Amino acid sequence: MIPITRPFLGDEEAEAAAAAVRSGWVTQGPRVAEFESAVADYCGTEHAVAVSSGTAALHLALAGLGIGPGDEVICPSMSFVATANAICMTGAAPVFADVERRTYNLDPRSVEKMIGPATKAIMVVHQIGLPADLERFYAIGRRNGLEIVEDAACALGSGYRGRPIGGHCAVEGGSAAACFSFHPRKVITTGEGGMVVTDRPELADRLRRLRNHGMSVAAASRHGSREFVEPSYDELGFNYRMSDIQAAVGVEQMKRLDDILRRRRKLAARYDAALADHPWLCGPFIPEDVQTNYQSYAARLADEAPVRCDEVIARLRELDVAAGAGIMLAHREKPHHQRRGADKLTVSEEANERSLLLPLYPQMSEAEVEQVVDSLWKITK
Ligand SMILES: *Cc1c(COP(=O)(O)O)cnc(C)c1O
Repeated sequence: MIPITRPFLGDEEAEAAAAAVRSGWVTQGPRVAEFESAVADYCGTEHAVAVSSGTAALHLALAGLGIGPGDEVICPSMSFVATANAICMTGAAPVFADVERRTYNLDPRSVEKMIGPATKAIMVVHQIGLPADLERFYAIGRRNGLEIVEDAACALGSGYRGRPIGGHCAVEGGSAAACFSFHPRKVITTGEGGMVVTDRPELADRLRRLRNHGMSVAAASRHGSREFVEPSYDELGFNYRMSDIQAAVGVEQMKRLDDILRRRRKLAARYDAALADHPWLCGPFIPEDVQTNYQSYAARLADEAPVRCDEVIARLRELDVAAGAGIMLAHREKPHHQRRGADKLTVSEEANERSLLLPLYPQMSEAEVEQVVDSLWKITK
């Protein structure tokens, strides 16, 4: 069976993890700092704060901005459930807006309609790595006094208007923070892990405290000095630390990022070419001012397709191709049934029914990609 994805790890990652273990320093330490620098340099931001998962990154960014009970954050329902869950973890309520038909990214017009007196922020998701039209959200944010937080869980290595995703935190009037995930389903992995990037120094300091039980940074940074400093815990924090073992893997993964992106884009181009003359499947729409990392490759079913998506997936599986269902809808899941906006998501629902994900991973061989392409034609007969 050709899997939907596979992490791209080698001996370098194994050696780096072993070296961290041998060093005796296994929790957050020098390798976490090194990984943070690598991600901040790549994105072009002043700060990067490593955490234990993408969900932790989202929760921490919102908490760091002071979002909590009584507040609302607008986000797409059409996203992995962690987007909405992270908002709930702060005590705030997610409010769902619809997505655009062409990109499956949050629709700025739908977002504007959902803004209410309790709205504090917009959580913009770069769906399966495809950058959303950030400038339009910045304009809405400015007009309504809202923060923009990017759920960039899938989008490391993608670009928007000449900057890598994450880098728009460094733009005047840009995002407050962007959050990455390093789950094995994403473009690079540390097993589990996440990162918040930001250009705001006070926010970065607060995130560093909040990820470590609220411990004052001054006390934490004196670790190893002779002087004994009693730490203080001035606000409620969490344990969202990344370990040095994970960060050691992350440092090696960052070295591979360009190669990973090159390979993913080449495979995606093969799918694009194959689907260009398919009778009822087509490839994704990529706007001109963005670059995607193809964290996933979403194929779409034409309106006149004689089959449903679940039938296509089932038939591909019979041919040993593990295609996956399209992006989920959080409002279909029990904790989010009753959210504000959940009854007005027509485009999201249609997009969910008409899309499926094809196998794509950097080490995918030519024979494997051709097997997928052949299967896409076999199922038309
Ligand atoms: C994967 C993902 C997350 C959560 O990341 P974890 O590291 O699994 O916690 C959040 N949002 C989106 C859009 C994701 O794809």
